[in-house]
Parts: sequence; structure tokens; C-alpha cells
Amino acid sequence: MADLSHLSVKERVDQMIAGARERFGCIVSINQSKRSAEQAQQFHVCHMFLHNFFKKLKPKFVAGDGRTIQWEHLSDPGIAWALIKNPEQSFLFTKIGRPAKRELVGGRARWALGWEPDKDATTRAMTSFLARAHVTSMAAPGIDHCGEPCCCGGHASKHISGGACDVSGMAILGQHVLRETRGLGSAEDAVDHFLAEYHLFRPMARLPGKAREAWHLEALPARHARGHARHASHRGKRAHDPQLHLNLRVERMEHRHGC
Ligand SMILES: [Zn+2]
Repeated sequence: MADLSHLSVKERVDQMIAGARERFGCIVSINQSKRSAEQAQQFHVCHMFLHNFFKKLKPKFVAGDGRTIQWEHLSDPGIAWALIKNPEQSFLFTKIGRPAKRELVGGRARWALGWEPDKDATTRAMTSFLARAHVTSMAAPGIDHCGEPCCCGGHASKHISGGACDVSGMAILGQHVLRETRGLGSAEDAVDHFLAEYHLFRPMARLPGKAREAWHLEALPARHARGHARHASHRGKRAHDPQLHLNLRVERMEHRHGC
């Protein structure tokens, strides 16, 4: 088994995608690898206002449902949102779907008369923003400890640092691997077994309900990766795959030359 510890998550995912194609004729593709801190915070605030699927995170000002951001706080004109400069341009829309307008009176911000944000219009704007970006489950904050208007205290998204990568095609891949590999109990186990060969794992694939993210990949912690490498080399699985070794060499060279 090759040493993959120096490879980024994205590089490991590229290897895994090549492996899925060459070994199983299976197409797996990247949905999103990196996102900016601002983009992550936009996803997070929308998610925390509309849903909040997090088990342990709660916004500082909670709505009557006990989970999501309170509308009165979200639409408070005196609040400066963390990382999101003009929330009225993207989310805080008036009843007829126009960006709300702020004005300063005596040094205090308020909404201009007739230009107040509307809860339903804002809900629609945030819903379609998440849908366009295919964000269907939890979205972590753009900064550690979060910020206004949520202030849930959560950790920054691993997508910002490149520590996570979302891919599609895991379910079909699982069926292929299961069919062609002995000793695996289920398609889910088969995916995890295959990913571990590339030192990847899915920390949220076994969570219940909406918290489940079968597509979110991260680097397998080194101690598990070492264990798996020993196991894999005994079976001699990848050791005889010249194409993958070639890919690995090319990636190493690219890595070294910084391209
Ligand atoms: Zn938050």
C-alpha cells in the first residue's frame, strides 16, 4: 500500500475517483471541495434559520421551535452579520421580493418605511440559495465559534481549509464494490472499505435522519490509515495497479512543483 499521508483530501479523492473508474467502471464525481469562509457562513446562517439539523448546536436567539434562529433577531437592522456584508442583498427581502433598505436615524440603524424584510420572502430566498448550491444537510459556520446573527459557537467548516470534499455516486459505488469483493456485509460497508484504501472516511455517513451525509469525505485519521495500509498490503490489492501508481507519481511531482 502506498503512503498517502502527504496527500491532501482533494488529492486522495482524485485517486479514489480514478480507482472507482478503473477497478469498477463506476463514475464518482466531486460536488464541492473548497468553499470560501463567506460562502460557508451564508450556507450556515440559511441552514440555522430554516432547519438546524445539528444535534448539539443552537443559535443564541432561538425561535419558538427551540432550534432555529429567531426571526426578530435575524431581521434586526442593528446587527452586523459576521462575514456577510450586506445580507439584505441576498436574503433579507421585502414582501415583494426586493432587498430591504436600512437607514440611520440618530446614529441607530432601522429599516426604511415600506422596505422592511419579510419573513416569508426571506425564507424563500434562503431556501432557493441552499437548493441552488445543493446544500441539503448540515452546513458548518465560516468562522470558529460562529457569529451574528447565529452565534451558535460551532467550529468552522472543514470545506474552508480543504479538509473535506463532497462527492456523488457513493451508493452505486457501494453496490459495485459489494458485488466484486468477498467478505463485506453491506453496500455501506463496501464504500467505507474502498474509501479506507485511499485513506478517506465518511464521518457523518452513519448519523441518523437528516444529519446523515453519505457524500462528505475527510482524511482517515493516521492511526486508522496505518492499520488499513498493513491490512491492504497483505492482500496485495493496490500494489499491482500500475495506473494508480503512475497517477500517484504524477501527483507527487505536481505537489512538489506547486502546480
Ligand atoms: Zn452558528
